[in-house]
Amino acid sequence: MKRSCGVLRGDDAGSAAELFGWVNRRRDHGGLVFIDLRDRDGITQVVFDPQTPCFAQAEHLRHEDVVRVCGQVRKRPAGTENSKLATGEIEVDATELEVLNRSLVPPFPVNTDDDVDENLRLEYRYLDLRRPRLQRNIALRHRIVKALRDFFDNRGFLEIETPMLIKSTPEGARDYLVPSRVHQGSFYALPQSPQILKQILMIAGFGRYMQIARCMRDEDQRADRQLEFTQIDVELSFASQDEVLEIMESAIRFTWKRVLEIDLPPFPRYAHAEVMNRFGSDKPDLRFGLDLQHVNDIFSGTEFVVFKSAIDAGGLVVALRYPDGASLSRRDFDALTELAKQNGAKGMVWIALGAEGTKSSAARFIGETEIARLRERTGAQIGDAILLFADAADAALLAAGKMRLEIGDRCGLRDPEQFAFAWITDFPLFEPDEETGAPAPAHHPFTAPGEGQWDLIDTEPMKMRAQHYDMVLNGFELGSGSIRIHKAEFQRRIFTMLGMSADQIEERFGFFLRALEYGAPPHGGMALGIDRIVMLAAGETGIRDVIAFPKNQMARDVMMDAPSAVPERLLRDLGLQLRSDGR
Ligand code: ASP
Repeated sequence: MKRSCGVLRGDDAGSAAELFGWVNRRRDHGGLVFIDLRDRDGITQVVFDPQTPCFAQAEHLRHEDVVRVCGQVRKRPAGTENSKLATGEIEVDATELEVLNRSLVPPFPVNTDDDVDENLRLEYRYLDLRRPRLQRNIALRHRIVKALRDFFDNRGFLEIETPMLIKSTPEGARDYLVPSRVHQGSFYALPQSPQILKQILMIAGFGRYMQIARCMRDEDQRADRQLEFTQIDVELSFASQDEVLEIMESAIRFTWKRVLEIDLPPFPRYAHAEVMNRFGSDKPDLRFGLDLQHVNDIFSGTEFVVFKSAIDAGGLVVALRYPDGASLSRRDFDALTELAKQNGAKGMVWIALGAEGTKSSAARFIGETEIARLRERTGAQIGDAILLFADAADAALLAAGKMRLEIGDRCGLRDPEQFAFAWITDFPLFEPDEETGAPAPAHHPFTAPGEGQWDLIDTEPMKMRAQHYDMVLNGFELGSGSIRIHKAEFQRRIFTMLGMSADQIEERFGFFLRALEYGAPPHGGMALGIDRIVMLAAGETGIRDVIAFPKNQMARDVMMDAPSAVPERLLRDLGLQLRSDGR
């Protein structure tokens, strides 16, 4: 007789039911008390008649009280059915009511998804999680993770847990450190990923590994980034890049089909250089076109100093079409130029192709011929605008790429129900370090260069290409992977190239190099961010809404109040002392 609040249907009329749940809503109506009783599975209407002994108690029920109700399932009177509720054909005529616990008045409504300040939601996360949207998201997350686990199980992967207290794994972020009490002055690092351990599992002969893995990186928080997050982490032995891509793509297609009932088309593959040139991003949003156009040739003889100096310095002039953009006022274009500058552009030139004539912020320098050629190149029509960016190549492309996304938003081209997955391949092995400009791994130092690339390591390392691939979706990077270096001597060369001394290599990676020397098989793998996958599948714009207990934007858990101070004694046990000057 115990039933959940979501299951009763018309056919159940006449049977008895015992329901447990929260008071979602109470209405006193026509002498009766109506309760919408809620649990994870749904809502059932319960009716209390003044004739029943429990009526008086029902009159005092408040939102979020927890109750047990017994009664008779019956069809609702004709005309009062609620087609919006799965249980809308029936109601339960209550004969017994037990209040299991009372609730204080919640600080925000629990029975709606109305906007509430996020910090308040996070402080009372248990109430926030009761609300419909988060209930849906957390259940969706479970189904996605379950589908992924089933997929990898079917393909012969073993889920193997790796430890949390380890040595630093370089994924390009700052480590979280855990002081050891037993070995004072020494620290564990929390894993930025299980990278080295999964490679060691390949050396250990497991062949196909996966894990729903927690990773911790001490980075600045963003809407799509948390300092602890979850990856589906995968590694395979004896696999080519194509085989890794096939497995990972199939995992996602299987999941989308099973969970969202969507048949995804095969994922297109693009080389890194191509997406940078066409979309100004290594994680392009491919739901729409508006490709960036390189137009140095159109301005090769220009007197316009902004373009001329960029071209002479080996840079780029990049053009972008803004559909229907001609209707913007000068002031709108000024604001857009300001936005371009915030996005790293030196400036922006606009051309509005109005029906009554063309206007431009650089009218004196851009004549009919240039405009005709720009229109031809970008496909811009009367009514559109054309935006131009001139700078060093990367800077011009990145700024134009960000503007492309802004225009995609403004023109409604970024439909959250459309899923444009793609593979990006052929990354450079190294990129300049943001601070020092020295070569730094574009992925991580375990990534193998592409065929024939080792020859460049001493002469032109920045030209080396990697066997590194990313999966992207709708402008987000879902994850990265690579074929790994599986020979110790080559791995040592990379560490040396990155500026590490023999002692430093031994101290940080000696154990790993040793493992590579005992018959390490060729291997490769990938990790995909579960939080981002669920966020996009749920149509959300931030990962905090698909994580049960996220940190807020300031990296705090405001429900538990963490991080927080600890008693002096605990620090002493660890052999630690806080500096009194607070530095
Ligand atoms: N460990 C990498 C990461 O977390 C993924 C991989 O190379 O498999 O980004």
